[in-house]
Amino acid sequence: MKVKYPFLDLRHANEPYMDELMAAAERVIKSGRYIGGTEIDAMEDDLAQLTSTKYAIGVSNGLDALKLIVRAYVEMGVFERGDEIIVPANTYIASLLAISDAGLVPVPVDVDIRSMNIDSRAAETAISPSTKGIMTVHLYGRMAWDSELMDMAGRHNLKIIEDCAQAIGGRATVAGINGTVEAGGLGDAAAFSFYPTKNIGALGDAGAVTTNDRVLADTVRALANYGSDRRYHNIYRGYNCRMDPLQGAMLAVKLRHTADENADRFARALAYHRTIRKDGVVTPEMSNAVTDNVWHQYVIRVLDGHRDQMRERLLDAGVETDIHYPTPPHLQPCYAGSLRHGPLPVTEQLSGEILSLPIGPGTSVKDAAEIAEILNNI
Ligand SMILES: *Cc1c(COP(=O)(O)O)cnc(C)c1O
Repeated sequence: MKVKYPFLDLRHANEPYMDELMAAAERVIKSGRYIGGTEIDAMEDDLAQLTSTKYAIGVSNGLDALKLIVRAYVEMGVFERGDEIIVPANTYIASLLAISDAGLVPVPVDVDIRSMNIDSRAAETAISPSTKGIMTVHLYGRMAWDSELMDMAGRHNLKIIEDCAQAIGGRATVAGINGTVEAGGLGDAAAFSFYPTKNIGALGDAGAVTTNDRVLADTVRALANYGSDRRYHNIYRGYNCRMDPLQGAMLAVKLRHTADENADRFARALAYHRTIRKDGVVTPEMSNAVTDNVWHQYVIRVLDGHRDQMRERLLDAGVETDIHYPTPPHLQPCYAGSLRHGPLPVTEQLSGEILSLPIGPGTSVKDAAEIAEILNNI
């Protein structure tokens, strides 16, 4: 059968903003300025405001954003080669690649079966004298943040790096303050991705670092520009990880719509939540706060080894799905057998059960309800 409900068609993500995007592209093309400049400055100001952080630095992509943070901490003498960084085992491989790229050691820990995000108790158990940081990943858009994580970082003097690639616009409750804090300002430094499929996507690769630490911000900015603090003066052996002004201009248009885009995702998630009633299928926890989870993915669990069969039956009925991710990073050929970690039963179980339903801009609330009914009837 023809696909009636595609998993994601990116044309839908940009169609509503076509006039603004065209105008912004024309402005950049006519400006004669194709590296850095006011388009990047404006986007960085918008992102700092959106995340309530002091500094935002536009970079080439999300993996580079993560890599630059880890490398900057090495240059600052906070991390050293061989230090260990704790990371959830259920994540996209980029989280781990950023750590090993700088010569540090990613230590994957298991996740909580309900949130599918880092399990603070598992993280505590993995701490060794070499542990210098925790990379928390707000996977699927759900805030991976609690008071245990904060306490642990405080007690062991660990830096907290947030992988916000799937979490723009999210906010988490923080112990000790009366209210919430934006993803990107929860820990010591945060990385964002604007890969086209993310909640806010550029029209190509793009990413960003946010932080309230001026030294870190300056170090990241220098590292991303050949390690130079001023023209033809190189203080680090850096990289070229700059964001293109064309992408900066596209993002300045799209960042303004972050809250609306996330509210639409919440409405689709709510439609799934209210309609899916199926033995052997577990739906994700639904919170009333729109920002606890920005629903980058709507990930159900299909129990008893029926996931792949369910996926096929859905496709037969015209529903495209995806799996995020079929193989956890510690079992990928590039890491298998070479990482220090304890048993990771929850992550390994989840990789055989998880199934992502369509929740992107091309899926309406009505579509979500129809997909849920199709699933109920399988
Ligand atoms: C997408 C993603 C990244 C990497 O971002 P890119 O822009 O694709 O390099 C990192 N971490 C997570 C959790 C992601 O989903």
